[in-house]
Amino acid sequence: MEYSFDEDQRAFREHIRRWTEERLTPRAQELDETSEFARDLFKELSDLGYLGVKYPEEYGGAGIAERNIYHTILCDELARGSMGFAATVAMHSSAASHMLFAEGTEEQKQKYLVPALKGDMVCAFAITEPQAGSDAAALRTRAERVDDGWVINGSKIFTSNGINADFITVVAKVEGGKGAKSMALFLVDTKTPGFSVGRQIEKFTTHCSDTAELFFEDMRLPLDCRLGGEDSDFKSAFRMLTVDRIITAAIALGNGWAAYEAALKYAHEREQFGQAIFDFQAVQFKLVDMLATYEQAHLYTYHTAAMADRGEDVTKEAAIAKIVAGDGCNEICQKALNIFGGYGLTMEYPVQRYLRDSYFPLIGGGTSDIMRLIAARKLGI
Ligand SMILES: Cc1cc2nc3c(=O)[nH]c(=O)nc-3n(C[C@H](O)[C@H](O)[C@H](O)COP(=O)(O)OP(=O)(O)OC[C@H]3O[C@@H](n4cnc5c(N)ncnc54)[C@H](O)[C@@H]3O)c2cc1C
Repeated sequence: MEYSFDEDQRAFREHIRRWTEERLTPRAQELDETSEFARDLFKELSDLGYLGVKYPEEYGGAGIAERNIYHTILCDELARGSMGFAATVAMHSSAASHMLFAEGTEEQKQKYLVPALKGDMVCAFAITEPQAGSDAAALRTRAERVDDGWVINGSKIFTSNGINADFITVVAKVEGGKGAKSMALFLVDTKTPGFSVGRQIEKFTTHCSDTAELFFEDMRLPLDCRLGGEDSDFKSAFRMLTVDRIITAAIALGNGWAAYEAALKYAHEREQFGQAIFDFQAVQFKLVDMLATYEQAHLYTYHTAAMADRGEDVTKEAAIAKIVAGDGCNEICQKALNIFGGYGLTMEYPVQRYLRDSYFPLIGGGTSDIMRLIAARKLGI
């Protein structure tokens, strides 16, 4: 069972699926081994117009009304080939560029958003700090207003695309306001003096999506680098981060499907006790449970993307989508590994990568328990 895509959405899905099968899947293992950012594939995608699927034509985007459905299809399909690559594209084409699109000046959009959608620039979004993860409001990076602009001091951790980024939307504390009013978004060109990238964080998951530490030391920015202007608060950025949870669910989905498909194929090929292991009811039950989990997550995620396209509040639904797709696809990958027996633990089959990568959506964009907290707040009577 699947979401009822219309004809154009199906055609788009077929196209990106074919591209993924022909161009990305054959490179997935190599990208995982080398932890390489596949800039050539990134550029190919942008030449096909995919990086701009969420944006208006005037900035080089596709100008599609159902932008969240299309963006979800894109990230879901890419993750079938490589979740690491899909995560790079997802971060680039959602939070980082979306905040610039929503809050940037026309000049900033021409200078940064247009090249980003062309694949000539890479972008990142940085809120997390060493002591401020789930508790984002505890961040310590400070932006001080000076005569001609802003001076930023502080650091960030776990910034996806941080190593390769040309510009980053950075969240910092500002003097004055409380809560969302005390946080502001800044557009940081990574060539700005005072900006530096620390180490690339090694991790067991999504190898080809780089994760960086960033430092800001007396980094001076012009006045208009505060996105949304002097009186902006962080509320609209929070709304964008809400919608982005659908995209994290999407990459979980694609990876979960890849694991299910690989396990189904293997179950038919592998023989024990004179028969395909698929013929053992215990294996069939696992596969049915995997499919049931997948289909629920798929329907819920696309349903939430459609709600977002209708302009509805998806705070609860996007958090739940991230839980059902993130936790669900992690379970699918665990069962897939089990079906592969000892071979699942070797590097010969990609199922170990699917399982390793399936941990990323459980944490990135907020942990599953934080998603439960967000959804719970909406259950009040
Ligand atoms: C691969 C990767 C990529 C990432 N990319 C980015 C990025 O591009 N930009 C960015 O800004 N950040 C990014 N992050 C950071 C990510 O959003 C944080 O790691 C995440 O929000 C959790 O924060 P933390 O790691 O500090 O964990 P903590 O907040 O320390 O949480 C540790 C544990 O405590 C639990 N916990 C914390 N608070 C509560 C609570 N109130 N109630 C119940 N349980 C709680 C958590 O659920 C978790 O189980 C990335 C992280 C990873 C691993």
